[in-house]
Amino acid sequence: MRIARFDSDRIGLISDARILDVTDLLAESLPAAPASLARRLVAHFDAVAPLLQRASEQRTTAEGLPLESVRLLAPVPDPPKIVAAPVNYRDHQEEMNEAHHISALGFFLKSPSSLLDPEGTVRLPYTDRRFDHEGEFALIVGRSASHIEPGRALDHIFGFTGLMDITMRGGEDRSTRKSFDTFTPLGPWIVTPEELGSPADVDLELKVNGRLRQKANTRDLIWSAARFLAYASSVTVLHPGDVVTTGTPAGVAPIEDGDTVELTIARIGTLRVEVSAEGAVPCPTSGAARGPVPPPARR
Ligand code: MN
Repeated sequence: MRIARFDSDRIGLISDARILDVTDLLAESLPAAPASLARRLVAHFDAVAPLLQRASEQRTTAEGLPLESVRLLAPVPDPPKIVAAPVNYRDHQEEMNEAHHISALGFFLKSPSSLLDPEGTVRLPYTDRRFDHEGEFALIVGRSASHIEPGRALDHIFGFTGLMDITMRGGEDRSTRKSFDTFTPLGPWIVTPEELGSPADVDLELKVNGRLRQKANTRDLIWSAARFLAYASSVTVLHPGDVVTTGTPAGVAPIEDGDTVELTIARIGTLRVEVSAEGAVPCPTSGAARGPVPPPARR
């Protein structure tokens, strides 16, 4: 299944470039708030999956809206947390001149309020700092769990999506450099595990203004999605709707005002955003010349 959030917080199933609105069906079947409808869907998916399956099978080819006629939204608007992998591809470790990778660094957290919808605009806050794209393969946690056994980790995944971990370079803490509002584009939708197949063999590529900047396959991850998820759960209990992102490969480079950034993940789709520096001001912190040394800018 391909599950999208769109327009005014609607939920839809995507097939054949059309989106079938299942919002009313879900609203009747899921417990009432407080969480978003998307997060309640994730938490209670086993209960509503047969309904969705039936709706999908009974759909006639003319039913549903053309995908290009809707405005896609970040597939989960209110993740309890965003868990992210630092330095989880060797080629990225080399380009950043980093002495350590994930097995020494563990994970870091991004602010959930840094999420951005597909086709949204990344807003660069400062005039005098470097900001980079990081294209990543991410997963959405399906059930509450702690201390997951690595061999069972995939059972805890609701689905997969694309994520851009937009990053300010420098010496400030990662949680600062990566948590500015709009710094976590997410989408374009969620693909469930039975539709994606193995998360250990997924191609991803990122382009800026049509030029290829990053290209990788998840088989090159130092810690696989499953191993990283199991590890994260040994530190902090994971909840339905948590976003876990697996790290970026080599090719990180600056983004600037007016850029278009596209992350394409095989068997998922393309997440596209714009970049704006409108309203940027001088940076009030002094980490610019500290921290890992990023690769030189390639324009
Ligand atoms: Mn990253």
